[in-house]
Amino acid sequence: MRIGIYGGTFNPPHIGHMRAAAHAIEILELDRLVLIPNNVAPHKKVTAGASGQQRLEMLRLSARGMKKAEVSSIELDREGTSYTADTLDQLRRAHPGDELVLMMGTDMFLSFLSWYEPERIMQNATLAVFYRGEKNEQLAVEAQKDKLEAMGAKVVLVANPVTAISSTDLRRMLVFRCADPFLCPGVSEYIRERGLYGTGRDYRKLSMEALEEAVLSLLKPNRVAHVLGCRDAAVELARRYGADLTDAARAGLLHDITKAIDGPLQLTLCDEYGILLNKFSQENPKTLHALTGSLVAEQIFGENEAVVTAIRYHTTGRPDMGLLEKIIYIADYIEANRDFPGVEEMRKAAYEDLDVALLMGLESAMAHVRRQGQELAAATADAVKFLRDRGVKTPEEM
Ligand code: FE
Ligand code: FE
Repeated sequence: MRIGIYGGTFNPPHIGHMRAAAHAIEILELDRLVLIPNNVAPHKKVTAGASGQQRLEMLRLSARGMKKAEVSSIELDREGTSYTADTLDQLRRAHPGDELVLMMGTDMFLSFLSWYEPERIMQNATLAVFYRGEKNEQLAVEAQKDKLEAMGAKVVLVANPVTAISSTDLRRMLVFRCADPFLCPGVSEYIRERGLYGTGRDYRKLSMEALEEAVLSLLKPNRVAHVLGCRDAAVELARRYGADLTDAARAGLLHDITKAIDGPLQLTLCDEYGILLNKFSQENPKTLHALTGSLVAEQIFGENEAVVTAIRYHTTGRPDMGLLEKIIYIADYIEANRDFPGVEEMRKAAYEDLDVALLMGLESAMAHVRRQGQELAAATADAVKFLRDRGVKTPEEM
């Protein structure tokens, strides 16, 4: 028999995992595939959200009905750090005459020699590497294959079917209540019934401290400083121009709330919120985080209309913007971490005349879009025209 082994954290398991599993069974001509949720991964810090038992149960729900697939609690039962070398020894003893095929992604394969006792793994199993097929990656993978084969390993390379979802993205989508398209039947209910991954939490009317903590947990780490900077700049501008300080802080915190979600998932978010998109948005899903952020601010965080609208237009602007809209648009540009030619002039203008700073931001955004050869949102051009028609000028023109 040829037995595939697919280990992982599965926190939570999703259709990407199950597609990879089905693909492996077919391509590797497996007689069985054993899915093994780890107890504690050797090189990952523990991610909260669900217990080992719960990850096991969700994986069982996901694998239900998949022929030749089964789920094993072998690593959870062993407790402690889940070393693949130990798991394979155990499986080898249970299946002395069978071929074991260990599935892994490119990153894991390239770092294989730094795993715990890699020789022991190579003795017990064929390594099946699922790679994405990009040129650089392919070269690195092939070099590693030669190296490991010279050491006695058996390696097979498998082109991976693309599934644009990771468990990290999925945990965000769960909070935004948009994860269902990526979960196998029964898993969504399982998660919601137990309130896992923050789904049981009420995000409406959080205190400022609780809001900040919730927002930061949903951002990519490299965006945290920008968001806090934008919040601080928004509050300063609100103080200068007499806007509501609380609204400014909340809008600043939430303005990039869906930024971590990439293109295809932005489209899913819109779909789940029942939004029909125009051609421009469908073709430029990267610009959608302002729209999806405003939907999440409204429906998940229960924010008021001023906050929601400010988030909605923070990337494109629009004609006749309200005070908070202008403040968030400009704060996003001038917050302390920003560093681009002209930022000092814009910071100065922001405290003298909000419309001048707004015009500078809009025109610099237009220039940027043109340089990138991208299509410009109509709202941005309209916003510039609106200000120009009212005689607003940039400092250079004055
Ligand atoms: Fe943004
Ligand atoms: Fe931003």
